[in-house]
Amino acid sequence: MHGERDRDGFDDAHLDIEFGLPRPVGEMLFPDIYIGLDIDLLAPGDGIVTDRHHASADRYEADDPQNQIAGQISPFTLSGWLRHGCERVVQAAGATACHPGEANADYMLQGVYDRDLDAGYHEKGTCIGENADDNAGCVIHDLFGGFGDRAGRVIRRPIRFSPIRRQVDVTQGEAEAHYRQLNTQVRSRNAEDEGQPLRQATRDVVGNLVGTWRLTLRELKPEYVGLLVEAVDYLDAHSDDYEMQLGGARNFGGGIADVEVVNPLYTEAELRRVYNRAQDPTSAMDTKDDIWRDQCREEFVRALQARIAAGDGDLPMPTEEESA
Ligand SMILES: [Zn+2]
Repeated sequence: MHGERDRDGFDDAHLDIEFGLPRPVGEMLFPDIYIGLDIDLLAPGDGIVTDRHHASADRYEADDPQNQIAGQISPFTLSGWLRHGCERVVQAAGATACHPGEANADYMLQGVYDRDLDAGYHEKGTCIGENADDNAGCVIHDLFGGFGDRAGRVIRRPIRFSPIRRQVDVTQGEAEAHYRQLNTQVRSRNAEDEGQPLRQATRDVVGNLVGTWRLTLRELKPEYVGLLVEAVDYLDAHSDDYEMQLGGARNFGGGIADVEVVNPLYTEAELRRVYNRAQDPTSAMDTKDDIWRDQCREEFVRALQARIAAGDGDLPMPTEEESA
């Protein structure tokens, strides 16, 4: 058993299936998982931290195309969006997901928590039970963390961005993007006011974001990878559904994200090449795409199915054939 684990690098001892990969984990990008993002307009609800070394606040001109402001996008909005995709995957598999909120929180709508519990959620943390061992909670609880001292098993970092491509390192979870501060004026429609502005709202956005969001697994369990790849595919397939859009300004097309997991079999040099417009994929990358698609991805998803089935006696354990 131990030899198996050393070769794979993944801990599958808690799963009721045999997990195996065609290549050594040491040659893969794990424990990092890179989420490739392509978003025309992103208005993160919790704002953007800008780095104004070269363009101080009083020198910012909204109309100036030469603004070279870099900064970072906080991971909170991104995390909520990713979690939402993960919840949908678990629910589609026939299980319930940990509710993201405390049962006694002060919700604005009456009965919203109970309504969620009827629609694919269990109360946050109830999956752990009394004698919590490491694998007691549901997989959502594992990945995103729960109460106080139990950190989520996936580290979600901020995305650093810059409008200057050569300053962007996708292996560090960075993106090329253009920061803008939008001023929206709300004008009076009352004829007496002659269209005067009533108030002005300022909103931080980034445009044309292309790059990576870097996640790191604190623990290598194959079902974590299975859940993340399924969630990212779900989010991509539903990218223009209102509830699956990312951040704010959704009525205006904000947060429609083309998203994919960058092939974990790539080297860092190959990962950089994905984002280098001057270079095409190599034949080695094409081969790795085939191996990932035909031999790896389904194996991780099968581990996820096994984990979900283990937590819910009514769901079938995946069989060997399904991985073929
Ligand atoms: Zn749970």
